[in-house]
This record gives sequence, C-alpha cells and structure tokens, in this order.
Amino acid sequence: MLKDMFDRNSSLSFEVFPPKKDDEFENCYKVLDSLSTLNPDFISVTYGAGGSRSKKTVEIASYIQNNLKIDAMAHMTCVGSTEDDILEVTNDLANVGVNHVLALRGDKPRDMSDEQFEKRIFPHATDLIRFLNTHTNLDVSASCYPEKHPEAISMDSDLAFMKMKQDMGAKMFISQLFFDNADFYRFIERADKSGITVPVVAGIMPITSAKQIGSTVTLAGSSVPKSLADICAKYGDSPEDMRKAGIEFAVNQIKDLRKCGMAHIHIYCMNKPKMTKEICTAII
Ligand code: FAD
Repeated sequence: MLKDMFDRNSSLSFEVFPPKKDDEFENCYKVLDSLSTLNPDFISVTYGAGGSRSKKTVEIASYIQNNLKIDAMAHMTCVGSTEDDILEVTNDLANVGVNHVLALRGDKPRDMSDEQFEKRIFPHATDLIRFLNTHTNLDVSASCYPEKHPEAISMDSDLAFMKMKQDMGAKMFISQLFFDNADFYRFIERADKSGITVPVVAGIMPITSAKQIGSTVTLAGSSVPKSLADICAKYGDSPEDMRKAGIEFAVNQIKDLRKCGMAHIHIYCMNKPKMTKEICTAII
C-alpha cells in the first residue's frame, strides 16, 4: 500500500474513531461501508490515550481490512502502556491481518497522576517506534505538527524529534490539523532541510460547526486564521450555512495543497460520510 501511494505521489485517506458503546458498532460499520465507496487509499482508526479501548480500535481496523478490503491503519498510543500491553495489541492486530500503525505517545490521560506520567515506560513516540520496529513486522508511521507540538520548546527541536522518528523507522508522517496552508508549506520546507525524506500527509479537518473551534481545534493547538474565524462568526448560528461554508473551506485547502504539489491528503472525517462524500466530489 505505502509503496503504491509513494510511487503515485498522491493519496486520499480518512480518519475514523471507534464507537464509544458496544451497541454503536453496527452504525459505525454503516459509516465505514459508505466511506469505502470513495475508494480511499487507507482508513486510520483512532485509539484512546490510555489504551483502555484498544480492542475497539482493533475491531474497527479489522472490519476495514477484512470486510471492506481497504488498508487499515491502527493508531496506537504508549503513554499509559507497558511493553506487554503494546505486544498484546500488536498480537491482536497481527491476528486480524492489520499491519500498519500510527505510533503516538498520546496525551496524559485524566486518571493518570503527574508522577505516573513522569515515570511512564515509553517516554515518547520515538521509543514506541523503536520498540515496534524491534519486536514486530508492522509498518510504522508517526505524527508531525506544522505549527509545532504545543509542548515543544521550539520548531527546531520538534523537527529534530521528527527526524528521530524517521531514523527509528517511521515510513510516513500524518500531520496535525491546520487551517492555513502557508503554515504547512513553511513546515515542509523546514522538514526538507531537516532531512525528512518520507512522505508527509496533510491532515485536513473540515469545520462544519463553530463549536469545533472551541473543542477539538483548541485541544490540537492549531491556530485559526481570520478567514475561518469570520466564517464561524457569520454562520455559527445557522447550522446548514456553517456546514456548507466549512466544507468549502476544506475543499479550497485541499485544492490549493494539490496545486502546490502536496497531494497526500488525510481527512479527519469524524465518522461523517455525507460530508466526506461532498468534499471528495468537489476536489475531483
Ligand atoms: P511525541 O512525538 O512523543 O511528542 C510529544 C512532545 O515531545 C513534542 O513536544 C516533541 O517535540 C517532544 N519529543 C518527541 N520525541 C522526543 C524525544 N525522543 N525526547 C524528548 N522529547 C521528545 N491521540 C490519541 O490519544 N489517540 C489518537 O488516535 C491520536 N491520533 C493522532 C493522529 C495524528 C495524526 C496526530 C497529529 C495526533 C494524534 N493524537 C492522538 C494526539 C497525540 O497523541 C498528541 O498530540 C500527543 O500530545 C503527542 O503525541 P506524539 O506521538 O506526537 O508525541
């Protein structure tokens, strides 16, 4: 899968999250069935920071891989995990034929004390990547941050750790969401200069409700350009207009990225197939 994507120098992929409750799986499968009609190169499945819901990630990734015959990428965080915990998940993935993971540190879970966080077994994603490449045959990818990770002391230090992820065996990066393509272009230029040679996939999150700015986007630490803030101010109280304007914003971002030769696109589709379909139709 990766080789084909890299040879083509373009790709379209989606991120989904597993259902919170057991009785929501059927609906999640319907969402995935619908997304599959858009022929993505792969679909990634998120993972709870502490790892407590890893079985759900594996179950959804298995459905994508085996029922839909689309390459699945399972996210995996290590912040609250022992080596045995990680190996249990990698065994689960091997058992269902999923062989691509996005290796992440994860954020400190709410129920983890500061002391536990300080003493965590895998300090960083770099440690997880090294571990996975030593103990498994999985393809391993990693995250990157066009506006730097919020904890990073500088963009230079963040880029140095990104390079370390590549040196540890990361085959591809997926970026944090961003709304100003200029940030991404600057980032790619600096990543190139830092020796990043593997593909960097642009993470695009459509903002279809003004509330997202106050929740997901704040958490991600991404900045909101005036053009998007204006859209939220203008249409925030009118759900259908906001939805349309948010989709148009994402479509314009993707078209501009492609025009500038950045054609690996990952849509944070938030389990919304209708919205994703509208975006995919508009970017053809
Ligand atoms: P790291 O790469 O470990 O980086 C964290 C900080 O430490 C950065 O400031 C970095 O500069 C620094 N650093 C990195 N390596 C080292 C090192 N070796 N030594 C010292 N400092 C270092 N979270 C979830 O819980 N579940 C998900 O499914 C999920 N999916 C995500 C998907 C994408 C594409 C992205 C971009 C993020 C995702 N996250 C997810 C969020 C992620 O877990 C958080 O951003 C987390 O704070 C950092 O994870 P990381 O793997 O980037 O950490």
